[in-house]
Amino acid sequence: MKRTSNPLKPLLVSQPTDKLFEQPPLGVDADTLALDVRRYFALFLGRYKHSRGRSTHYPYQATVLAIRDRLNERLNNTRHAYEVAGAKHAYYLSLEFLMGRTLNNALLNLGLGEETEQALRTLGFDLDELIDTEADAGLGNGGLGRLAACFLDSCATLQLPVMGYGIRYEYGMFRQHIENGQQVEEPDHWLRNGNPWELEKPEHTRRIQYYGRTVHQSGPDGRLRVAWVDSHDVLAVPYDTPIPGYWNNTVNVLRLWKAAATDEFDLDEFNAGSYTESVAAKNAAENITMVLYPNDASENGKELRLRQQYFLASASLQDILARWEDQHGKDFSRFAELNCFQLNDTHPSCAVPELMRLLIDEHDQSWETAWDIVTRTMAYTNHTLLPEALEKWSVRLFGQLLPRLLEIVYEINARFLTEVARRWPGDNARLARMSLIEEGPEPQIRMAYLAIVGSFSVNGVAELHSRLLQQGLFRDFHELWPWKFNNKTNGVTQRRWLASANPLQSQLITETIGDGWITRLDELRKLAPLADDPAFRARWAAVKRANKERLAELVRKDCQVEFNPDAMFDVQVKRIHEYKRQLLNVLHVVHLYIRIKQGEIGTFTPRCVLIGGKAAPGYFMAKRIITFVCKVAEVVNGDPTVRDRLKLAFLPDYRVSAMEIIAPGSDLSEQISTAGKEASGTGNMKFMMNGAVTIGTLDGANIEIREEVGDENFFLFGLTAREVEDARNGYNPDAIIAADPDLKRVMELIESGHFNQFQPGLFDPIIKAIRSPHDPWLVAADFRSYIDAQDRAAETYRDQDRWTRMSILNTAASGKFSTDRTMEEYNADIWKLPKVAPTPMQQLGGQVSNCCI
Ligand SMILES: *Cc1c(COP(=O)(O)O)cnc(C)c1O
Repeated sequence: MKRTSNPLKPLLVSQPTDKLFEQPPLGVDADTLALDVRRYFALFLGRYKHSRGRSTHYPYQATVLAIRDRLNERLNNTRHAYEVAGAKHAYYLSLEFLMGRTLNNALLNLGLGEETEQALRTLGFDLDELIDTEADAGLGNGGLGRLAACFLDSCATLQLPVMGYGIRYEYGMFRQHIENGQQVEEPDHWLRNGNPWELEKPEHTRRIQYYGRTVHQSGPDGRLRVAWVDSHDVLAVPYDTPIPGYWNNTVNVLRLWKAAATDEFDLDEFNAGSYTESVAAKNAAENITMVLYPNDASENGKELRLRQQYFLASASLQDILARWEDQHGKDFSRFAELNCFQLNDTHPSCAVPELMRLLIDEHDQSWETAWDIVTRTMAYTNHTLLPEALEKWSVRLFGQLLPRLLEIVYEINARFLTEVARRWPGDNARLARMSLIEEGPEPQIRMAYLAIVGSFSVNGVAELHSRLLQQGLFRDFHELWPWKFNNKTNGVTQRRWLASANPLQSQLITETIGDGWITRLDELRKLAPLADDPAFRARWAAVKRANKERLAELVRKDCQVEFNPDAMFDVQVKRIHEYKRQLLNVLHVVHLYIRIKQGEIGTFTPRCVLIGGKAAPGYFMAKRIITFVCKVAEVVNGDPTVRDRLKLAFLPDYRVSAMEIIAPGSDLSEQISTAGKEASGTGNMKFMMNGAVTIGTLDGANIEIREEVGDENFFLFGLTAREVEDARNGYNPDAIIAADPDLKRVMELIESGHFNQFQPGLFDPIIKAIRSPHDPWLVAADFRSYIDAQDRAAETYRDQDRWTRMSILNTAASGKFSTDRTMEEYNADIWKLPKVAPTPMQQLGGQVSNCCI
């Protein structure tokens, strides 16, 4: 195929001069903001005043555009500061960024909430209403994608030169409806009404190659040259979203790539007269970034997914190398000193062979120099121990799609295995175990091993997880390179998950201990003594009550179930997966239902149980579990004898903006995964920060949460990770069920068809799974201990003073779980970036800004 240069290249303007930064900054007072919003509304968007009554769409757009100006101004200013400092950069490569909504967060971080609210009021608009019209940017499945979003917020707040790279999916995570207890997926066309936050940067378009073949020939210098020819090429067009730090003038960038067809024709097809077919074929190129794969914690091996992964890796690396060349020419001697790549799971791990290819084939570096650069710049984060989630690509498929990359992977493997053989002579079993290629009828590339071999740092996401990685999954690699392995316990950003999601609790905290916690979450410790102050407890309880009313309203609207805020709000929201054990939760609800029906209610704590989450569309058991929740809910909520004592609701379409209402309104946080299976969890941290008490297993970050808050403020149950491993042998759930009268009657009621009156056999797969001696999730094994912990929680809740005390102590102890701490650790141990403060806006001339330090 003919390769032409990017036609957009000539549009590239010269670097902005410092003149640009000598302009006085835009005003940030309410009057100036109002003027700008009005100008965008009337002139840029061309709307007349009567459009106002029609919808919130145009006022929302006009507001975002006015705020975006302030962000872009600070963004340019920040880039300038990084450039002047010649600062090292880190790049967070991730197939997922689960950003949620942007407006409220941007206003919080810019410090423009009040001014904007006032400006809009003078124009007759309501800010809260506009905030609610924004669609979630759902470009992620769950924890891994949300983590990437929290990381960006913290990096900007810490003034770290970090840039996010991802994919601009046309369709994000599907929207979930429930019809007759079944999940129905609906495409999420989140860009339908435009995305006013992003800026397209066509001048930075990159070209991505697929298919074709390689040609090996000696160059003029006698060195072997490899050309990748006859490839089918696709363009990658970047879209930039500003990422503001909290009150610090810093604005970093998230760059998302969209696929576009080249303007070239397939001449053969054209000559054959299939002009229209050849134009239509361009669709195939644009399909690459059409949709996010909705599998959480399981790989699917589809070719389109590999195309997405390579697309992200190649476009991002080319982008970074092009910027390097602009600044440093062809000298790569300091590249490793000034750049670092963090791989969010193995999804972007094509970056290892791709950086080799770009350095060797496109930038004339030797293998040795290129490998030195790769292994000094790549860092890999593992997110799961579940074997079904470990990515492998068939060598055949990989070699067809990315022929040059396969050659490089083979060469990396050959050199790596030589090193292993030198260290353990004659240990062929070890060679086979550690090889990047898993042999068999269909040989596979082990992407996690590729990432480890190519990286100088390998981290897990909670203490337990990192330890299990070193002792289990990556044991051989840990033996070879112990220094590569480290832990970085996850976190969440308190700006979104406390300051913005829970204004009432935030206000109370700030009135009490000041607002330092917004950037130093440890300061929440100062709340601990107030847990013993009855007046403070009363205010804390009043806030929780108001947040429960807000959550009850969401449940009323989305589930048509009435939650009474006097009851304990017991909440489990997360992806639906067997290892997360939503089933165990439902078994407890059935147990309470039976108790009520049997009149065993001498002391009974009223409960509202909320379960929410999406099932991967191809995950049969997860979907059946949703149906189970819905059907048990119908029976329980429809039974007049149960009344307000027990409610169960399945919340459809769990997403970031829903969690912003859920976490503040929860009393009890369900973190009940089988020990050793949840790498970290981050939902657990959001709940804790918002004053929910955890009922949980010794899994992931639960262990560290319990360490921080103390055993007396945490409802612990269940087998440990080691006990789980041991329990596998001779596990006999039938015997456990027979020996436990509570579990026995729960199973018998389910088996009687009580919850599936007109659909016989509907829950047989669930019953079978629980009764199977091969149940990997050990639901029956943990039932008794779980019920006992729930009873302790219920008893504690009856003493409202005691519960409120625990709630305060949970928030007070949540300081460790800020991504500010997590990012400081990544930076201290892996990235080693300088913090660079841009020139404060008000020093750039003219007007004094009232928003920034
Ligand atoms: C935090 C979050 C998650 C992760 O929750 P876990 O309980 O850690 O699995 C998933 N989805 C959304 C929308 C979230 O906000």
